[in-house]
Amino acid sequence: MPFFQGSLAQSVEQWIFNPLVGSSNLPRPTIIYPNMGDIQTTQIVNFCNDYLNIDNIDDYCPNGLQIQGSPNTTKIITAVSVSANIILQAIEEKAQTILTHHGFFWKNEAPQITGIKRTRIKLLLENNINLLTYHLPLDIHPLIGNNIRLAKTLNLVNIRHKNKGGFYYGEFEKEISMPEFNKFIDDTFKTHSIYVGDSDKKIKTVGLCTGAGQNFMQQAIDLNLDIFISGEHSENNYYLANESETNFISMGHHNSEKYGIMKLGELLQDKFFIQHKFLDSVNPF
Ligand SMILES: [Zn+2]
Repeated sequence: MPFFQGSLAQSVEQWIFNPLVGSSNLPRPTIIYPNMGDIQTTQIVNFCNDYLNIDNIDDYCPNGLQIQGSPNTTKIITAVSVSANIILQAIEEKAQTILTHHGFFWKNEAPQITGIKRTRIKLLLENNINLLTYHLPLDIHPLIGNNIRLAKTLNLVNIRHKNKGGFYYGEFEKEISMPEFNKFIDDTFKTHSIYVGDSDKKIKTVGLCTGAGQNFMQQAIDLNLDIFISGEHSENNYYLANESETNFISMGHHNSEKYGIMKLGELLQDKFFIQHKFLDSVNPF
C-alpha cells in the first residue's frame, strides 16, 4: 500500500527518485509528511559530510556540524548565512537544525565568543538547535553546488568547469545584448547588479564564480569569454573589464548563493522525510 496517496504521492515519488528534477530555483512549499518519524541528526550530518566530500576539500572554516543541538531532527531551516534573525525565525518554526552556507569560525576571525557571535551561539545553545554549515564543498559540488546551480539558472549550455569546480563556464544558445543580459540577471535574481565593460557587446559565452569569486575573472579573460559574473567586485575588476574583451557583472554575494543550500535542504527533505523551509534575507550585498 502506498505511503502517500493522490497528487502528494506522485510529487513525493517524483522528488524521491529524481531529487534534481526541474530547473526551478523557487523554494518549494513545506510538505508535512504524515507519520513523520524523528531522524537522528547524526544521520543527516553523516549523509551531508559524505555527499559533499568534506574530507577532501580544504576550506577557510570547519564544514559539517558547527554547533551541537538536538539529537533528533524533524524540521530543518536552510539559509545562506547564519544570523540572529535566521536563528529567531528557526526558533519560531520549531526547527531542530539550521543548515547554512556561511556559518561560524572563519580562519581569520577573532576566536573569542563575544558580542554578536555570543548572542547567536547563546540562542542556538539555549534552544538546542544544531548548526550545520557547508562552505566550499557546497560551492563546487557538481550537482547541487552554487556554481552549477547558477549556470543552470542562467540556462547555459555546454557547461564546463575548471579549478576543481571553482570556475564554471558555458554559453547561451543565442547571443543577447548587454542591457538584455543585465535585465535578465536583475529580474531572475531580484537583485541590482553592477556591470562594467562594453555596453554594445553581444553576450554569448559566460564564465562565473558565485560569492567572493571576483578574482577568477582572469580565467574568463584567458578563455576570451564575453562576460564574467561574480557575487562581489573589487576595484581591479573595473580595469580588467575595460582592458579586455570580457565584461564583468557583480550580482550580490547573497543573491548568487541561495540555490545550493536550497537544493541541499530539498534533498534532505526527500531523503529523510523531514520538513524543510528555506528562509531568505533581503541582503543586497
Ligand atoms: Zn559565499
